[in-house]
Amino acid sequence: MKNEKPKNLKQEPDLILRGIGVSSGIAIGPVFVIDQHGVPIPEYEIPAAQTEKEIKRFHNGISKTQKQLSQIKRKADATPSGINEDVGLLLDAYRGMVSSSRLIRGVEKLIADSHLNVEAAVNREILGMADSFAAMDDDYLASRADDVREVGSRLIRNLLRQHYNPFADAPARSILLAEEITPADTALMDPERIGGFVAVLGGAEGHAAIMARALGLPAILGVAALVGSVTSGDMMIVDGEAGEIVLRPSDKTLQHYKQEAQKQARENRKLKLLRDEPAVTTDATEVRLEVNLELPRESASALDVGAQGVGLLRTEFSFMNRPQLPSEEEQFESLRDLVKKMKGRPVTIRTLDVGGEKLATAFGDMLGVSPNPALGLRAIRLGLKETKILDTQLSAILRASAYGPVRILVPMVSSVTQMKQVRARLVQVEKKLLKRGIKLPPALPPLGAMIEIPGAALSSDALSKVCDFFAIGSNDLTQYTLAIDRGDEQVADLYNPYHPAVLRLIQFVIAAAWRANVPVSACGELAGQPRATALLLGLGLRSFSMSPSRLLQVKQEIRRLSLDSCVAFAEKILAQSEEAAICKLLDEGISSIQPQSSSARRKK
Ligand code: PEP
Ligand code: MG
Repeated sequence: MKNEKPKNLKQEPDLILRGIGVSSGIAIGPVFVIDQHGVPIPEYEIPAAQTEKEIKRFHNGISKTQKQLSQIKRKADATPSGINEDVGLLLDAYRGMVSSSRLIRGVEKLIADSHLNVEAAVNREILGMADSFAAMDDDYLASRADDVREVGSRLIRNLLRQHYNPFADAPARSILLAEEITPADTALMDPERIGGFVAVLGGAEGHAAIMARALGLPAILGVAALVGSVTSGDMMIVDGEAGEIVLRPSDKTLQHYKQEAQKQARENRKLKLLRDEPAVTTDATEVRLEVNLELPRESASALDVGAQGVGLLRTEFSFMNRPQLPSEEEQFESLRDLVKKMKGRPVTIRTLDVGGEKLATAFGDMLGVSPNPALGLRAIRLGLKETKILDTQLSAILRASAYGPVRILVPMVSSVTQMKQVRARLVQVEKKLLKRGIKLPPALPPLGAMIEIPGAALSSDALSKVCDFFAIGSNDLTQYTLAIDRGDEQVADLYNPYHPAVLRLIQFVIAAAWRANVPVSACGELAGQPRATALLLGLGLRSFSMSPSRLLQVKQEIRRLSLDSCVAFAEKILAQSEEAAICKLLDEGISSIQPQSSSARRKK
């Protein structure tokens, strides 16, 4: 549903900026620019034996900062009007400062001689450099002191990898603006207080985007022109569907968007009427609809839309924004509460999928610095290396399973061996709990694998022998099949779950699951796109899990479809070799298919 622009927009002085609309809806409110500077800086002495490691940490921080600055510069350069030329020059200057020999030598010396931790060493050196600039007679050079401090705080933030709530003071209904909104930032957002968010960086299927949809917050990412053009308090309209931002809108434009927002609210109220209706096709095929949750406390949003269960709980979000890992007790209590609140509807709890873009401070240096984080130590690879963390989580999940039906889902599985290893650990953990006198249900919860790596998809026949269920993760499956970073706005136009290769893998997994009689669901973002519903049903999928904000739209779609036409539609789509042809068919919709009657098919 695209918004029609007010007819006389040309005469109005609105400034329109475009980006990737990642979460639909209209937000209208004052901008709150997230101040990423006010992070408290710890100061402590490091053991002499650790100086080398600390210096390495310093250099990793410099590389990360350089990379960030280059990314932002590329965005600024891409602004068509070239209004950001000055910003580009400034960013070049920042890059020079962060790798200046004075900073590097100074910090290395403080770490080696005074055994100071790297954040404190950078802070001291930066303050010294800023003072020298400030003391200069030349006005221009003196004003560089602020730039030095800016570079220093960016470097320190990167070293700390620390999250605090940088928008705790945002006025009600404001639109948050930052260079980059991390998944951990989104976990702090309260949709009752925040209107929406926009950022310079980020792609459509990164976790910030997924969280925006889960929270029902309109959001636009990858907006190059935000660099340097907005300040806190500016009025902004975010149209998440169109991927458009109107900055400092005229009264007329404001009026138009207010009416649009009211129209959308009316449509949502109509959808709500479907809450207790069954998800069934016109030819009586029942479909299971569950939700993806990021935090156990979100159970209300699942019940609000009449979900039949939780198809995916992304537990990693409970590990973010905190200095220490949650204890078994803490994990158990929040999982138990969720299981109880779901009142007998199954809860699929995924073990930690931390790493890659999903960083959690509590892990400290455990995740290391990977040259290629999406391919590095993340998810179950980390769990099978740091087995204490995995066992603690399994223990909490097993204990919660005494309060209602639970399933355990393993992320980023790439081999049969990994599933066997996890099952063996689960059995051991169960034994220990029974020894502790803890009462558990007689059978272990079903143990399933996320199918989100092409290698796992192609091994699904073998995996079906060691898994109790499959959950297809189309987000990562697309990322790894096409070798496209799902969170990188520079290649966002190439990220396409409707690529024939991705669809064939999905078809293969569903067929393998049917052959082995293993339940299969899809919980990637594809499952929540009404546009994909007919195709997935036609491929044989009968269980979908998605953001609560999408569930009723998908249900509405299912209730309009007949399975016969879905099968014919899927066949036609799978016969295509180019994404454009597939997307055209999807846009035309299932009505472009003339299904053969079942009896005609049988005769063939
Ligand atoms: C996926 O990859 O499709 C998925 C559901 O997991 P996540 O988005 O958390 O990586
Ligand atoms: Mg995934």
